[in-house]
Amino acid sequence: MPIIQLTETLVTQQCVVCDAERDIQVDTLTLGMLTPGGVEDTVSILMPRCACGAYEQLVRSLEAAPLSMQGHPLEHRKAVNALGERLKSLGNTHEQLVHNFAAEPPASNLPSVLPFKVSKVKRPLGRNNKL
Ligand SMILES: [Zn+2]
Repeated sequence: MPIIQLTETLVTQQCVVCDAERDIQVDTLTLGMLTPGGVEDTVSILMPRCACGAYEQLVRSLEAAPLSMQGHPLEHRKAVNALGERLKSLGNTHEQLVHNFAAEPPASNLPSVLPFKVSKVKRPLGRNNKL
């Protein structure tokens, strides 16, 4: 379920299961989560459940992207990192993990302008079966 567009206020997401596109308000999302075992996860952004039942968890990648990374993987990485930066600027971080974000340098590989569009990936036939 990739991000296909990011603005200051909206994330447009396409569900990998049902192909539905939906706009999600950025300010309803939270950066970071605690796993059921109590592990501090500062890179994940849990997206709301799709109407088909699918969940997506976006994962930031804070290290520099390899030079060989291009096209959709690089664009999507930029979009997810930019969403993470936006959530930090809004203060939408997990309340028990705030201390982790305070000292964190800004992510690299961010889009130069918003809205940022991510090219869609052509999937092989049969991947869009409903659950
Ligand atoms: Zn779906």
